[in-house]
Amino acid sequence: MAPRNAEIVCTTDDDEIKNEVEPVVTAETHGQKLPPMRIVWRNVIWMVWLHSACIIGLYLFPFAHPLTWLWCVALYMMNALGITAGAHRLWAHRSYKAKLPTRILLAFFQTLAFQNDIVEWSRDHRAHHKYSETDGDPHNAKRGFFFAHMGWLLVRKHPDVKAKGRLLDVSDLIADPVCSFQRRYYVWLVFATCFGFPTLVPWYFWGESAWTAFHIAGVLRYTIALHVTWCVNSVAHMWGNKPYDQNINPVENFFVAFGAIGEGYHNYHHVFPHDYTTSEFNWKFNPTSIFIDFLAAIGQVTDRKKMSYDMVFRRKQRTGDGTAGFGHLTWKKPVKVNSDETKTE
Ligand SMILES: [Zn+2]
Ligand SMILES: [Zn+2]
Repeated sequence: MAPRNAEIVCTTDDDEIKNEVEPVVTAETHGQKLPPMRIVWRNVIWMVWLHSACIIGLYLFPFAHPLTWLWCVALYMMNALGITAGAHRLWAHRSYKAKLPTRILLAFFQTLAFQNDIVEWSRDHRAHHKYSETDGDPHNAKRGFFFAHMGWLLVRKHPDVKAKGRLLDVSDLIADPVCSFQRRYYVWLVFATCFGFPTLVPWYFWGESAWTAFHIAGVLRYTIALHVTWCVNSVAHMWGNKPYDQNINPVENFFVAFGAIGEGYHNYHHVFPHDYTTSEFNWKFNPTSIFIDFLAAIGQVTDRKKMSYDMVFRRKQRTGDGTAGFGHLTWKKPVKVNSDETKTE
């Protein structure tokens, strides 16, 4: 477990607790009108091509050079960290601060992941938290598994997403020269980084065919990483336990935590979105937190925000479902029996 050392900012202030807590979704907050489904054919054609090329990548995989296999693993980790440590925990939530070399490295990783530029990714994600499970949420899980997973990218955004997204402040992202540079040259950068770079390295250094390298290190790695990221919006909003708040949809899901290198503690994350580990358990199934702590150890990262143990415990007692971890019933919710004493169920 990562040490709760003095440099990590522990939040205990009750006002901040209120700000952290997201509103409970009710029939009033969730719009009843059915949004118009206007298909974006450009994205549909792109996804059909991508998944077709992915099948070629799967076929070629057993015949590839062993170094190409290792290259795919390395690229997957870079791709994942660009989203988890970069776009998500640093830029969307500001859960820690990073120096320029680290921001450049994370922006490079985030470009490799090809999930829109940092400003757009972060704005969508801030909307997802602020308007969670309503029509203002870009991947509103109330519209079903497929919509939350990838369908939201295949249709035009609901008018509420646009209207409410405009109300969100992203001036901090625009002011970051790393984000604004990436946004300005995104189209060029993304194809060079997501497909060009992964293809060139195996071709140049160990003589892999460009066709194989492109389909495995480019297309296959990219598509798998996309689906794992999308599982945070779909699976981790549907199947799992709710130790911190049983009134919201996000859940704790081990498989998502494992695949998305630490992002499956989603009930915790929606209750305490500014915690830099996105989890109560710091390093447990959380390579992203290990990576951030390593960067802190070499002086590249500062001001990591961490919820205090007491605050998390109080919240679990108040609104949790009585489970702990990934569904083990190791903790029992106390119930009041009279004004003076409490007992456990
Ligand atoms: Zn979520
Ligand atoms: Zn988040």
